[in-house]
Amino acid sequence: MKGVALFGVPGAGKGTQSQLLIKKYDYIYIATGDMLRKEIKEQTPLGKVADEVISKGELLGDDIIIKMIAKRLDNHTEGTFLFDGFPRTIAQAHALEQLLIDRGGELMLFIKLELSLEESMTRLLHRAKTSGRSDDNRKIIELRFKEYQHKTAPVSDYFKEKGLYHSVKGLGTVDAVFGELCTIIDNR
Ligand code: ADP
Repeated sequence: MKGVALFGVPGAGKGTQSQLLIKKYDYIYIATGDMLRKEIKEQTPLGKVADEVISKGELLGDDIIIKMIAKRLDNHTEGTFLFDGFPRTIAQAHALEQLLIDRGGELMLFIKLELSLEESMTRLLHRAKTSGRSDDNRKIIELRFKEYQHKTAPVSDYFKEKGLYHSVKGLGTVDAVFGELCTIIDNR
């Protein structure tokens, strides 16, 4: 059981690239934001908590997220997982490594899609026109950026120290970014 983590600011293109990657490499896709939005839609107890936290632009508690991921991993006995939107804190980074080790596997790659916050804001405001997401508006996006800078950005330094870190410029075309991601993966 192996893992690849796709990292980056909101709007960096993780979701778009994930769709291409799962097709090409047959990865099992785990996107925490999508999982939480599904819980919200189904109005589960977790969904109710998630709805409140997400619409404030904050991060869910680590325990909740880690439990959700563990449950998801246990639906499979083998394969390579692609993580989108996880890990988003140092505690989640530790947990991810441990969850994979406990299942006889490891995290293979941590890839950051690089995008400036200015560009990200432009993309998210554009996406807001069609996404219907409660957190895609300027005020909440700014709060999401704050959470990102305080809690999430340090995660990339953590994986730099582990030697798993790679980065790709997120500003190119979808195909160009995908090409670079594939090169990193194929060289691993
Ligand atoms: P983004 O476009 O910001 O990358 P996501 O769809 O990945 O959005 O996540 C949307 C929201 O869901 C986040 O702002 C956060 O509130 C919550 N969320 C998603 N993943 C996590 C996580 N790993 N830890 C805590 N909260 C999370």
